This record gives sequence, structure tokens and C-alpha cells, in this order.
Amino acid sequence: QTFFKPILNTAPPSPTKRHTKISVIGVGNVGMAIAQTILTQDLADEIALVDAKADKLRGEMLDLQHAAAFLPRTKIIASVDYSVTVGSDLCIITAGARQLPGESRLNLLQRNVALFTSIVPPLAKYSPDTILMIVSNPVDILTYVAWKLSRFPSNRVIGSGTNLDSSRFRFLIADHLDVNAQDVQAYIVGEHGDSSVALWSSISVGGVPVLSFLEKQQISYEKETLENIHKDVVNGAYEVISLKGYTSWAIGYSVANLARSILRDQRKIHPVSVLAKGFYGIDGGDVFFSLPAQLGRSGILGVTNIHLTDEEAQRLKDSAKTLIEMQSQLGL
Ligand code: NAD
Repeated sequence: QTFFKPILNTAPPSPTKRHTKISVIGVGNVGMAIAQTILTQDLADEIALVDAKADKLRGEMLDLQHAAAFLPRTKIIASVDYSVTVGSDLCIITAGARQLPGESRLNLLQRNVALFTSIVPPLAKYSPDTILMIVSNPVDILTYVAWKLSRFPSNRVIGSGTNLDSSRFRFLIADHLDVNAQDVQAYIVGEHGDSSVALWSSISVGGVPVLSFLEKQQISYEKETLENIHKDVVNGAYEVISLKGYTSWAIGYSVANLARSILRDQRKIHPVSVLAKGFYGIDGGDVFFSLPAQLGRSGILGVTNIHLTDEEAQRLKDSAKTLIEMQSQLGL
């Protein structure tokens, strides 16, 4: 404040100046990859980090702060106390319990629900207008849990869902066709992970629909190759985890990309976990899973109407049923 001599007669800072704040809950591998991508991409004026482990949290905060000379100016704060998140525009939850040896999926889920009970209400209290972005797994059910616990309207509760699966898909298709992954439009929708649904008929490269192009050119229809690509998408996470112990870089970029679309009001379409009731014939309960949705400053702006084959629509309905059954065991 005293380092520079103030310029006299300047107007006071405008109260309308936009200040963007992002909070990241959980500073494990995923939370830190997201935080560092957000920093390098200059998406926020302030980043607040929260974790239950105070030492690890302070260590991560200092390590990022020490890079200030090389980064766009961003205030980085951290605390085990949720008051540090006050006034956030976006809260990204990556905190999660690790699966114990022999532990069932349901038990792990129940532990993560308990964890969310201590995370979501304080976030909603300190930032009642924030958008919640859920990354912790199982991401679709935990997005439902966060929606219930926050009592936010559904446009402000988003799961990172199959955004990452879809980027793996686009990379593999691009690699196969030797084109740039950014020119590949391809969506994986539904449940994040094993039962995700690849929307083959809507894949296009530079505006050319791939399947009908291959058929018209009478290039032998590479059904098996395509199915193997989807298998590789599903196995991708397992392979990375078995090799390096966790996944981090791709989820970091994927969530930073969602943050950009939301905070900069990009109105881009991303496959993310949304309240799916009422879309694509999904009824019978409140269920979150990924559909191609338009993202902007108020969160989810809408869901696009992609043509689904009967088989794809049926697979989504089956996933909805499984998720609703699991949710009913949570007692929320
Ligand atoms: P990690 O174990 O490295 O980090 C989890 C962090 O959460 C730890 O720092 C831990 O201290 C913190 N934590 C635990 N309980 C907490 C609480 N009550 N409050 C605050 N912090 C708490 O795990 P990770 O590799 O970073 O993965 C995090 C989550 O992200 C996992 O659930 C993982 O499955 C999920 N994930 C999702 C995707 C996706 O595409 N949706 C991709 C990768 C990982």
C-alpha cells in the first residue's frame, strides 16, 4: 500500500469490477491438477483451497504461491475452515474417501455421502449463489447428493461426468484418423465409467459425419475398431491408475475447461452430469448423469437434443434405473 506513491485525484475502484473466485475442496492429486490448470489459464482472481489435512493443505498452498513470479496474478488462500470459500463463483469438490481393500461400492458411497454432508452445506452457506461442480466419484450419485444437500436449483449443480470420458474418446478417434482432437466432435453420455454410452451416429470431424461418410465411401465399416475405441475409453482410467496410481492431468484440464465455459459465459456444449429427468424419455425419479449440455455463467443453460438410437436410449434408461436404486439406499 505504501510502496508506490498514490496518484492523486483518482476515482475510487469501481464496485462493479468483476472479481472471480473459485474454491477447490480436496487438495489431492485431482484437486491440485485442477487448481494448477486454473492458475495457468488465468481463470480466477482468487483461488481458495480446502482440505481436512491442514499440513498438506498449507504445503500445497505455499508451493503454488511460490510460483507467483511465473503465473498470472491470482490470490491463493487455504484453510480447513469453509469461511475461506466465502463469495465463490464456482466451488469444485474433489474430496473423496479412498476405497478400502474389500470394501463394497455401496459402503464407499455411504462414506462419501457422509463426507459430502460436512462439505456441501457450509459451501452453500458461505456462497449461496455459487455453482457447484462435483468431481468426486461416483460422480453422478454424488452430484445428486450435492443437489439434495445444497437445495440449489439444478442448473447450479453440475457433475464433471463424462466430460473426461469424451475427451479420451476424441483423442482416440483423432489418433485413429490422424486428425486434431479439437476437430473431432464426439460424445460419451450416461453414467461416468463402465456403463457409459458412446453416441456413434453423432461423431463428426470438421463437420463431416464420420459413420455415414465411411458408409458412403464404401470403406469397410469398422465396427470392431470403433467398439474397441469405446472399450479403450472405459479402460483408460483403470490403465492410468494401475500404472501411476491415480489420474490427474486430463481431469485437471477437463474441469478447467468446464470452469472456463461457465465463468466466461462461453455457452459451449459439454457432456456433463445434469438432472436428467424429463430428457430423452427419462422419468421415474430424480437422477443425474451426463447429457450434452450448454454451459454459461448461470450454470446449465439447456440440454441439446441429439438423436439417439433405440439401443442408446434404452441403455440410458437402464442406467437411470440402476442409479435411482442406489440413491434409494442412501436415506436422503
Ligand atoms: P486423493 O486421495 O489424492 O485426494 C482426496 C483428498 O480429499 C485428500 O487430500 C483428502 O485429505 C481430502 N479429503 C478427504 N476427506 C475430506 C473432507 N471431509 N474435507 C475435505 N477434504 C477431504 O484422491 P484424488 O486422486 O485426488 O481423487 C479425488 C476424487 O476424484 C476421487 O473420488 C476420484 O475417484 C475422483 N476422480 C473423478 C474423476 C472424474 O472424471 N469425475 C476423475 C479422476 C478422479
